[in-house]
Amino acid sequence: MTLVSRIVGTCRRRSPWLFHMNSGSCNGCDIELIASLTPRYDAEQLGVRLQGSPRHADILCVTGPVTHTSVQAVKTVYGQVCEPKAVVAIGSCPASTNAFIDSRVIVGPLDRQIPVDVFVPGCPPRPDAIIQGIVAAAGILAKRGKSSDAERKAKP
Ligand code: SF4
Repeated sequence: MTLVSRIVGTCRRRSPWLFHMNSGSCNGCDIELIASLTPRYDAEQLGVRLQGSPRHADILCVTGPVTHTSVQAVKTVYGQVCEPKAVVAIGSCPASTNAFIDSRVIVGPLDRQIPVDVFVPGCPPRPDAIIQGIVAAAGILAKRGKSSDAERKAKP
């Protein structure tokens, strides 16, 4: 592993940047995610930052049960987050579609549409649970960075 990739891996683990995507949520989870970044819970002290573009993010945070109208946007945004990346499903909606389970406009749960690394349960989950999920995703991301580095080295 080169020095540069070690530094990049450490930065990813210690300062994960997020992109938030609402796939049809009631906004309960979105409010809790924003609350986790406010001074009371202060996820920013862990280096967590919300980004305006998926191209600048390491972790994709998805709320909502994935509606028919949002699914293409979810897949596009997932594709725009650079590798290595991790996905955090926030709340019971992306995990199981929750209260919307029998709705004909729902195409979730989220892992039916894109790979998911961490599920944060709750309706909505508390900000501290969301922070815990983001920290878990940052750990996965750091490991993923190391393994893709090893794969790159193994190539002739
Ligand atoms: S999990 Fe609950 S709070 Fe979150 S989007 Fe679904 S219904 Fe709303």
